[in-house]
Amino acid sequence: MALLTVRNLHARVAGKDILKGIDLEVAPGEVHAIMGPNGSGKSTLASVLAGRDGYEVTQGEVLFDGKPLLELSPEARAAAGVFLAFQYPVEIPGVGNIHFLRTALNAQRRSKGLEELDAMDFLQLAKEKSKLVQLDAAFMNRSVNEGFSGGEKKRNEIFQMAVLEPRLAILDETDSGLDIDALRTVAGGVNALRSPERGMVLITHYQRLLDYIVPDKVHVIAAGRIVRSGGRELALELEEKGYGWLGLDGGKKA
Ligand code: ADP
Ligand code: MG
Ligand code: MG
Repeated sequence: MALLTVRNLHARVAGKDILKGIDLEVAPGEVHAIMGPNGSGKSTLASVLAGRDGYEVTQGEVLFDGKPLLELSPEARAAAGVFLAFQYPVEIPGVGNIHFLRTALNAQRRSKGLEELDAMDFLQLAKEKSKLVQLDAAFMNRSVNEGFSGGEKKRNEIFQMAVLEPRLAILDETDSGLDIDALRTVAGGVNALRSPERGMVLITHYQRLLDYIVPDKVHVIAAGRIVRSGGRELALELEEKGYGWLGLDGGKKA
């Protein structure tokens, strides 16, 4: 059974129809890359899946593990094993990264009927996971994302994902420049966390990222619809020819 099924999803933001019939199926173990020109609706799709405020679904459905996802609160989605890096607050002055993460992990454990981790056990786990992204202890104790550089934010995202071990991870790489270190961090983390049970949706503007992460499937979104799906070769073709080749956005490269 598919881990994530998106059927004919339509969504509206600020009174404007943005998603216009998205269909997507992600099986356990698969990494899907979603690409497309700026403003095509990639981040809107991620926001709708996360249950962010202000995104109104007007048609269609989303199933996670065969169960309706859209009727769950954002917290319930996270507890069920859906991870979206940006669903976590960008800055919470005074709240340590590590404290925040423990709260999120324990919410997830409670919903699975598992015992909560105490501070000591959690610290042990966090230390182990931090090695994946070479985060040091000082970093973990900083306030959530407060004053993090772009590269540090990326490392922190991957660290959070490593601790929470989601069934489905949705990473939106945004349109802001990822430097080569951040790119390698994201790629290394995603590759290390690939597993037969886990699905990943990687939203990216950068074909370059896919030199490091070989996706199972690639989709191109334009004007709120998936206009092309294929394998890895589709990303390579886009790199070479730009979106203009698909008749999109005047041939500008992403
Ligand atoms: P992408 O991630 O592909 O660059 P987005 O999903 O961010 O695209 O945006 C798609 C469209 O939706 C854009 O036209 C954008 O201006 C609009 N949009 C997205 N979020 C909002 C919002 N919160 N308020 C108003 N318009 C929005
Ligand atoms: Mg954008
Ligand atoms: Mg975006």
